[in-house]
Amino acid sequence: MTRLTNKEALDLIQNADFNELGQKAFERKRELHPEKITTFVVDRNINYTNVCWVDCKFCAFYRHAKADDAYILSFEEIGKKIEELIAIGGTQILFQGGVHPKLKIEWYEDLVEWISKHYPTITIHGFSAIEIDYIAKISKITYKEVLERLKAKGLFSIPGAGAEILSDRVRDIIAPKKLDAKTWIDIHRTAHKVGIKSTATMMFGTVETDEEIIEHWEMIRNLQDETGGFRAYIMWSFQSDHTKLKEEFPDMKKQSPHRYLKLLAVSRLYLDNFKNIQSSWVTQGSYIGQLALKFGANDLGSTMMEENVVAAAGTANQMNQEEMIKLISDIGEYPAKRDTAYNIKERF
Ligand code: SF4
Repeated sequence: MTRLTNKEALDLIQNADFNELGQKAFERKRELHPEKITTFVVDRNINYTNVCWVDCKFCAFYRHAKADDAYILSFEEIGKKIEELIAIGGTQILFQGGVHPKLKIEWYEDLVEWISKHYPTITIHGFSAIEIDYIAKISKITYKEVLERLKAKGLFSIPGAGAEILSDRVRDIIAPKKLDAKTWIDIHRTAHKVGIKSTATMMFGTVETDEEIIEHWEMIRNLQDETGGFRAYIMWSFQSDHTKLKEEFPDMKKQSPHRYLKLLAVSRLYLDNFKNIQSSWVTQGSYIGQLALKFGANDLGSTMMEENVVAAAGTANQMNQEEMIKLISDIGEYPAKRDTAYNIKERF
């Protein structure tokens, strides 16, 4: 397959026939996954704190340190959540804050070490680029050192959260205090180079243009060419309830399922060096989540035992393992449980 140029990708977003586009994305998925397996992971979100100073305008989850409902979970509370996950056969925790203004590297080292020692079967998929960047700043060390020190305690996978749209024009509007696009890329590059894999994400549906979406894809495609360190690409649409961004732009429209599926299909064709693309049923609902498997996605993501961030913005979808298996079987694919590294652990 010839690599899509930015101009061709833009043309597909703006002019392609919807059904033909979906068909092309599905064919590309089949080339990469001829065995017709759709995977999922049994994991749990743990938000170890909701305290955050970054004030992203699209976020309804965070609290300032003095708020009545601000929290930091104790190690024991985290342990209890992990035990509940293990009881249902889970293997991964998606582990993220808040960017707490006071916690330094030593606290994170103790935490990662404690989890790794007590729960050796659990993979920590944790700490997004903004957390890594801030831990470095407050601890007066480089982010390479943060990554190396956390890896030494048992961190081998970081999530792509905080990418939003990798365009500084967009970031300056929706999250002006957040790290810039180049630093997000550089933290992931550094993670890959020290032996930590990651995922790439995109949140669309705020103030970006189609060109800026392609700019985002270009940055992650280039880094994937360079390091091969992204395990998957995941995109979702902005969920607006209770956010400052919605107050600032009250006319901002909720993104349609049609737009989600179209962008997903073009991403499958443009991101030719990504083997795995997740469907975002958490934001789109189970029906569109299932349809996404016909538009290029090969993974249903996580069963999401506990989801706080999207739920805070007014969207609460839930699914258990049996429902996932049914959704996948219903469209003629074979369901399989995977681990964080996309190794298949059990087929159904
Ligand atoms: S998205 Fe993350 S960094 Fe931004 S305010 Fe919410 S918790 Fe903080």
